[in-house]
Amino acid sequence: VKEIGLPERAVVTTCAYCGVGCTFRAEMRGEQLVRMVPYKDGKANRGHSCVKGRFAYGYANHQDRITSPMIRDSIHDPWREVSWEEALGFAASKVQAIKAEHGAMALGGITSSRCTNEETFLVQKLIRSVFGANNVDTCARVCHSPTGYGLKTTFGTSAGTQDFDSVMQTDVALVIGANPTDGHPVFASRLKKRLREGAKLIVIDPRRIDLVRTPHVEASYHLPLQPGTNVAVLTAMAHVIVTEGLVDRAYIEERCEIDAYEDWARFVSDERHSPEVLEAVTRVPAADLREAARLYATGGNAAIYYGLGVTEHSQGSSTVMAIANLAMCTGNVGRPGVGVNPLRGQNNVQGACDMGSFPHELPGYRHLSDGETRALFEKDWGVSLDPNPGLRINNMLDAAVDGTFKAIYIQGEDILQSDPNTRHVADGLAAMDCVIVHDLFLNETANYAHVFLPGSTFLEKNGTFTNAERRIQPVRKVMEPANGMEDWQVTQSLANALGAEWSYTHPSEILDEIARLTGSFAGVSWDMLQKRGSVQWPVNEKYPDGSPVMHMNGFVRGKGLFVVTDYVPTDEKTGPRFPLLLTTGRILSQYNVGAQTRRTANTVWHPEDLLEMHPVDAENRGLKDGDWARLASRTGETTLRVTVTDRVAPGVVYTTFHHPATQANVVTTDYSDWATNCPEYKVTAVQVSPSNGP
Ligand code: SF4
Repeated sequence: VKEIGLPERAVVTTCAYCGVGCTFRAEMRGEQLVRMVPYKDGKANRGHSCVKGRFAYGYANHQDRITSPMIRDSIHDPWREVSWEEALGFAASKVQAIKAEHGAMALGGITSSRCTNEETFLVQKLIRSVFGANNVDTCARVCHSPTGYGLKTTFGTSAGTQDFDSVMQTDVALVIGANPTDGHPVFASRLKKRLREGAKLIVIDPRRIDLVRTPHVEASYHLPLQPGTNVAVLTAMAHVIVTEGLVDRAYIEERCEIDAYEDWARFVSDERHSPEVLEAVTRVPAADLREAARLYATGGNAAIYYGLGVTEHSQGSSTVMAIANLAMCTGNVGRPGVGVNPLRGQNNVQGACDMGSFPHELPGYRHLSDGETRALFEKDWGVSLDPNPGLRINNMLDAAVDGTFKAIYIQGEDILQSDPNTRHVADGLAAMDCVIVHDLFLNETANYAHVFLPGSTFLEKNGTFTNAERRIQPVRKVMEPANGMEDWQVTQSLANALGAEWSYTHPSEILDEIARLTGSFAGVSWDMLQKRGSVQWPVNEKYPDGSPVMHMNGFVRGKGLFVVTDYVPTDEKTGPRFPLLLTTGRILSQYNVGAQTRRTANTVWHPEDLLEMHPVDAENRGLKDGDWARLASRTGETTLRVTVTDRVAPGVVYTTFHHPATQANVVTTDYSDWATNCPEYKVTAVQVSPSNGP
């Protein structure tokens, strides 16, 4: 401000990083953004923010931004800058030629959880109604797809049950597989406030995250489980609750399918599921686990918050359902202060899922096999839809290697960095005839692209994001797009180059279409959001003011469904060659693959990914703090600097995945969740040895 001068105007908009969804005033002087100020009336953040949001504007004007469309015939050719018309025509002719020769199943796309609801809605509409198949997926595949499966199965809808305000009525918070202090900092502040007021905390995490012990906050129990044993820990907790008679029987009888409950209760009561027996697997002291279970069941309003440490496992969906079982058996769903709350990673991962970004579901989580739903969309869009589910991203890549999948449109995601087994992703992309990357920067994936369509930042567009508490919030244009087009306009232009006749003139018209076709959004409109600021879905005739807490008067599916979740060990095993288990996570100042945060002032706080290692493991390998180490798995290897710390237990190592120089996913495996194919990023058998550096 000192250098640029005082702001002349401000635009209220929504942060485009994490699923908290903080509201900011973007303060402008002329066409220059002076600063981002957390907005006191923002319902998700109430005047707070973290360092990522405050400096987010840094990447919007970064010199690496690509603002002209580019094309090339081969990935070995140099890029050619061309007009929008030529780039879109080039992309359309390639897509049309591939469709004519190989059919619609050779085409697909990926929606971006960084983009608005309106933009993701349009991409899935493009894939289904113009490309002609349902080969659409999203980055939730690699993060919260098990949440979608698990919560839909048990509760009837794929979303968290509570609003963030609810935490102020929580007596016991159980945080499992999440690190809110780094991943969801503004929510973490609210949680810590409640903990300072006396609420109790249970942390289930292989690593001693900050929340375990931070000024004026100490967890009652930290259960440092062996990576990959979430289901065993939750089953042992359920064993204690059921066998000690701590269940809420009246709630279960009134709200849940009783036969399914009885089956589940019999299963968890078996002695082989006791904490004492499972201790050999989980490495959690049985006495601590028993006490933690008692506290969760009897401590008052109990709320579960979880993250990717739950979902990114071969048993991700089972773990989500085990969490739901625990909440239902203690009567902790359907009122303020309790519930099951996935802490969504990306700003609009909830929205991207809501908008039909999965190959088997139309917007609103309605399965393609439902003829009535299909007919609704077919009538509105004036096309016939393929009733068969399409390919998931991993299946698209497999099919590309096999020669049957030929073209992909990737909206705002760097799959070469973010998806598991980097080599396989590269092989899949290299095998395609047409890769269209729509992004802000020439990311790693763009190395395999034939068409690059420059994207617009959250500061350059109108639309809506939906945060982790189902809050639909407006995103307002602060400045004109550097590339001349908002992302929804790019997708519309591509659709029209392929023969469609879309004519949206503002995202509000797309939002109207979403509301028309999606029951949970039926009461939403752009005008309504300008007046109210935000609203939580479902918002419709039944809930005109939205729904801060879900399942208040019964579950969305009717009766809650208990599901037996047997612990099945991962196929990823340690052994003499790979004796350590690697798990991964985030750090406060960086965001995912770092495409944005590495181009802001945040880089000074975390210039490289580090490998955390227990002092005993480090000493055994002759490694000291700051030494370079080679990290190798059965899949690949990389080089990182070591941090020696007892935050991790012996036998466990940990790193972040923000920097392309590290490419942590070079070492992660192909194993994935049995139900959704969400990759098992959190468990990789590795070896660490001294290195001279990269
Ligand atoms: Fe808020 Fe998340 Fe943005 Fe930080 S990154 S300002 S917590 S929305």
